[in-house]
Amino acid sequence: MNEFELIRRYFAAARCAQGGDGVVLGIGDDCALLALPAGEQLAVSTDTLVAGVHFPAACDAFLLGQRALAVSASDLAAMGATPLAFTLALTLPSANETWLAEFARGLQTMAQNCALALVGGDTTRGPLSLTLTVFGRVPNGQALLRSGAQVGDLLCVGGELGDAAGALPLVLGQREAAADISEALLARYWSPQPQLALGQALRGRATAALDISDGLLADCGHIAKASQVALKIELEQVPLSAPLRAFAGEEQARICALGGGDDYRLAFTLPPALLADLQADWPEIRVIGRVQAGTGVELLDTTGQPIEPPRGGYQHF
Ligand code: ADP
Ligand code: MG
Repeated sequence: MNEFELIRRYFAAARCAQGGDGVVLGIGDDCALLALPAGEQLAVSTDTLVAGVHFPAACDAFLLGQRALAVSASDLAAMGATPLAFTLALTLPSANETWLAEFARGLQTMAQNCALALVGGDTTRGPLSLTLTVFGRVPNGQALLRSGAQVGDLLCVGGELGDAAGALPLVLGQREAAADISEALLARYWSPQPQLALGQALRGRATAALDISDGLLADCGHIAKASQVALKIELEQVPLSAPLRAFAGEEQARICALGGGDDYRLAFTLPPALLADLQADWPEIRVIGRVQAGTGVELLDTTGQPIEPPRGGYQHF
């Protein structure tokens, strides 16, 4: 199977590559063409996943396809963007047809889930690595930035944290757990659900937002810095799932939620008056702290006293 046959069979022929809203021209020419409605801006984000760094090289190809696109689509959610299209640059050690079919099926599943059309890419030989670029659209000036948090805002998250980091010993086959616990945690690692609808609902409401990929404390540090404010997080308010508590214990679960990565849930700052309306539609939203004057991120105990965080998020360099 040559390169062109591979592209045709597994990608150009995929259901998600048959076009969609805003796709004027998809796979097959030198560029894809996307159309934006008047008054909207293009949101663009790229993520690379390298075997052995971001996922185990021997992992299930279906799950990898799903996860790779979810991770990228989560950046669109964080900007409040409506999904449009994505490209896939794939580096493969060999053209293993079973692997490719499963990978393409996983990609298709998440593409459908997120309403993203595959419009192009690149295919090369080398150590397994994936680079996905996602494109979304957002009304002029309404994208959710990291830089708008205001003193007095609430700090909120879009649901329970730490499951994906807690699942790592299961992902790596280092530990086992009862089927219900292991299924729940592994699902949060392998098929995180980008909070796209929530991100769009936050447009015009949240003052700052991002998706938590490197750990709550590290990512909140980005909002604090970009907005030139201090974020105070109440440890007791950080939501932990029942499966994570059961698997890792309370203490370790907290460490996963604060410092572990891969949550792909939104963290955002919100004027207090807007909370009730939002929670009516998204009951999983939790207020975990407040925006104050100052700098940096501080963790507080139940009495409001500052406490030392267990450890920071993952950094590559
Ligand atoms: P070029 O030489 O112009 O870069 P390529 O031969 O790399 O074109 O690719 C041919 C077409 O197939 C292009 O439209 C490209 O976007 C698309 N393509 C290549 N690899 C992939 C892939 N892995 N997934 C989706 N589309 C791909
Ligand atoms: Mg090319």
